[in-house]
Amino acid sequence: MLYLFGLLCVAIIAIIVIYKKYDLMKAYYKYETDAFDKLEGQFHRQEEESKKQIEELRNIAYLNATTNIWNIDYFLEKAEKELKNEENKSSEFTLVAFNISNIGKINQLFGPTEGDKVVYFTAQTLKSLSGTSIYAQIYSNLFCILYKDKLDSYVTNSINRMYNTLLAYDSNVEIKTAYGIYKITDKNMGIMEMINYAQLAQKFIKESDEDCFKFFTTELEDTFQNNKRMSDEMEQALEDHKFVVYLQPMYDLQSYKIVSAEALVRWDYPGKGILSPYAFLPLFENTSLIQKLDYYMWEECMKTIRRWIDNKIEPTPVTINISTSHLNNGRFIDRLVALRDQYLIDRKYIILEIPEKGLTNNPVTKDIINRLHNEGFILCIDNFGSMNSPLNLLKDFPIDRIKIDRSFLAKNSESEEGLTILRYLIAMAKELDFTVITEGIETDEQKDILLEIGCDIGQGYYFSKPVDLKTFDSMNKTQVSEMFRPDEYYPSFEDYERDLDLVVQFFRNNDSSASV
Ligand code: C2E
Ligand code: MG
Repeated sequence: MLYLFGLLCVAIIAIIVIYKKYDLMKAYYKYETDAFDKLEGQFHRQEEESKKQIEELRNIAYLNATTNIWNIDYFLEKAEKELKNEENKSSEFTLVAFNISNIGKINQLFGPTEGDKVVYFTAQTLKSLSGTSIYAQIYSNLFCILYKDKLDSYVTNSINRMYNTLLAYDSNVEIKTAYGIYKITDKNMGIMEMINYAQLAQKFIKESDEDCFKFFTTELEDTFQNNKRMSDEMEQALEDHKFVVYLQPMYDLQSYKIVSAEALVRWDYPGKGILSPYAFLPLFENTSLIQKLDYYMWEECMKTIRRWIDNKIEPTPVTINISTSHLNNGRFIDRLVALRDQYLIDRKYIILEIPEKGLTNNPVTKDIINRLHNEGFILCIDNFGSMNSPLNLLKDFPIDRIKIDRSFLAKNSESEEGLTILRYLIAMAKELDFTVITEGIETDEQKDILLEIGCDIGQGYYFSKPVDLKTFDSMNKTQVSEMFRPDEYYPSFEDYERDLDLVVQFFRNNDSSASV
């Protein structure tokens, strides 16, 4: 019995010990699991943190800091991966490059802060309209999209949608964009080279074009190469005096006398003959070449006036064109004044033509125009009417003349309403004390109308095309203007007799009235 009791006690003790041990183990296990959970949580948190850091680093590397959309590095990497992906072997790709073509004007008119806002809005529009296509802001004013397996019509529709969305940005600020399209033929070509081709097509879009996009073609490339060659040859041509001054006379519409002449550049191009400025000036615009050409032309004009003076020929005041690219920086004024002093030219012989499109409220431009006026240059606004600027804009500038653009004349000389507009424009200009010149007069009727409605000076093919200096000199000598003079009235003998009778009659009447 005692034995049994002892055995029971041992068993109970054993159970208690085992239970305690189990409890301890359970507690220990619980402790271990908690620790593990803690560790696991920590690990997950760290993993999240690292992911976030990687994402941030990726953003720093791939996102544009100001517009917060993908940048050039992202585009180069992603586009290359996509093009070289074996799965895309049979896919067709189209690359579109675009920019805000009037960003310079927006900055000038509304300030750089507005310019930044416009770029930001463009970037966000690109982001929202690109769908699954790869897109990026390549640099400040160049954006790209890579389309995969999309028909041309899809691409051009997307472009039009983007164009219209951007155009509707603000009723005061128009965002104008131009798009070059390159259909990728060789997927192994460098991405930058593809972007260059798209940009090349984009450069051929003219403001007057109906579409805001252009596809790259090999013909465009040929033209581009030709243009590039011309730009490269330009400086040598300046040294070789291959650019020549042509003068187009301007006539006083009352006296039919040549009162001034516009200097217009021509390029005597080997093998091609005399080239019009339209064939090469657009290539030089927006580069320093246009300024070099202007300096050259100004000096040639001063030399011509000096030659006239030295040869005792009464100088004709010469009108010289100032390209808009000068109107952001007044440095050119010193150059003009120095040339005038060097060739000892009286200020009354130089008239400067400033294009209407260069006339803005920008304080720099205003200052330039005031300085030119203070230096004694006669100032004329060229191509007036081409931009529909209101006349009162000119009131703020010390302008002496306006030259009505030939497109404005052509548009308005055909209809009654057009003529009314022309009549009012000229009347208002005269009211504001401007001398009015009209260019592009091609017909006798146009000349008569302009004379009748008060235009002072006329220029156009009706009188003369621009001519070389030698021809101009001989025209000036013989005053070809005589051919436009209305028939002179030479009284006949009968007229003379009739006039004499009238005089006799007059005195008789006077005598008789005196005697009454
Ligand atoms: P612009 O200053 O408006 O010059 C007038 C243009 O109209 C000239 O073209 C002239 O030949 C043309 N023209 C004149 N009368 C008539 C006409 O009755 N009918 C037609 N159809 N055209 C007429 P051009 O000489 O080809 O010059 C074109 C433009 O090139 C000029 O337009 C001017 O903006 C620019 N340009 C010419 N020479 C120079 C220059 O030396 N420097 C600068 N910056 N620009 C120049
Ligand atoms: Mg002109």
